[in-house]
Amino acid sequence: MKEILIYYDKEIEQTKLDYVLTNINIHPFCKDTIHFSSANKIEIADLLYSKDAINQEHQFKMFALKKLLLKEIDTSAIFELHQVLDGGKMLNFVSVNESKKDTLLIDKIIYADLFETLFFHWSRYEEVVFPKHQRNEWDLMPEEDLFVVKHDLYHQPFLDDLILWFVRLFIPDHQPKHIFEIIPTFDIDYLHFDELSVVENIRIFLSILVKGNRPLKGGLEFFKALFNNKIDLSFLDHFSSNGIIYILCGGKHKFDFPKSKKSYERIVSLINECHLRGIEIGIHPSFETAYSFEKVKTEIELLSEMTKSKLTKSRQHFLHIDYKDTIPLLERLGIEIDSSTGFNLHVGFKVGTSYAFYYWNWEANRISSVLGKPLVWMDSAQWYESKKQINRYKIDTIKYYQEQQLGEICINNHPIFQSKLACYE
Ligand SMILES: [Zn+2]
Repeated sequence: MKEILIYYDKEIEQTKLDYVLTNINIHPFCKDTIHFSSANKIEIADLLYSKDAINQEHQFKMFALKKLLLKEIDTSAIFELHQVLDGGKMLNFVSVNESKKDTLLIDKIIYADLFETLFFHWSRYEEVVFPKHQRNEWDLMPEEDLFVVKHDLYHQPFLDDLILWFVRLFIPDHQPKHIFEIIPTFDIDYLHFDELSVVENIRIFLSILVKGNRPLKGGLEFFKALFNNKIDLSFLDHFSSNGIIYILCGGKHKFDFPKSKKSYERIVSLINECHLRGIEIGIHPSFETAYSFEKVKTEIELLSEMTKSKLTKSRQHFLHIDYKDTIPLLERLGIEIDSSTGFNLHVGFKVGTSYAFYYWNWEANRISSVLGKPLVWMDSAQWYESKKQINRYKIDTIKYYQEQQLGEICINNHPIFQSKLACYE
């Protein structure tokens, strides 16, 4: 294991730099190979993150912008894309104007700020500082405004490329272990159409008539599904043991699906079936839980009473997460892995990686204990994307990385969406 020490400028907040280094260290490309830590003795540092001169042969100096790693976050900083071609690979950094250089490495000086770039993406900085009144109907930063969407970067795991480039500064011939894994998950918002309100059902019916390929057949399928009272758990047949079922139980917002007694009976039979098959269950906190400790607590207690187990995995309903408010409350409630970071309308890498990373706790200004497991593909997002394409169900992103044998791709299906799709086809 190679140990690399980073010397950093006094202005930089060590907790933020350590946060970035921790996430680099847990990345599968680094695990058991290389370990980074912050140092304050210049003479033993392998990489300088400061204005100081390079004084040893094995040292690199990184051009430091460090706006995000200062004690005060500069909310007015406008981050631009800084692209540098290195060894045939386009590397994507964030930057403010002054750091723009076409060459990445000259005389052991790196003209791009890797730590800043990684902090920007992992901490979800832009979503935290985005004006609340400009959020969309799901109370989220509009996806079109996100850095990775604006610059069309979300088709590739650009963060993984950066980390590999960084490791190779110190181990030039390093090859990451190629492991490809699909992590299937299901969000259970409701288990049958009869759990929806009349208005919601009319809306779906009309949309089948308008958008469906064969409206009459679709309409008929819809009524068949509506009046079929048996719950169909056959979707579990396509499930592997590394998957997770996230269950919504509670919530009174118009985006939630308030549960009847019958719904809870269905949830219990789903839980029993999951137990039989050894499938893990997580909580799918309802829409308004993003800001409410009490609401998440109530829902976790209700579900863990039904599963008779401690719940440690979570995904917010509608991916409604507020990085400043939700992370601290998930942390307090013992959630260890959250899988809410993904797109509602796009397919791809929102954080530039499929690998897990620790969230930043913006409230306490420190690393959180919650691991973020990015969501890469979701059926409903694919539905939106396919409206823009002719090829309706093409899963490009996943296929590409399957060929490369790279990534831990988390995908999400809504079983009820499958029957909805049957109505549209
Ligand atoms: Zn949901």
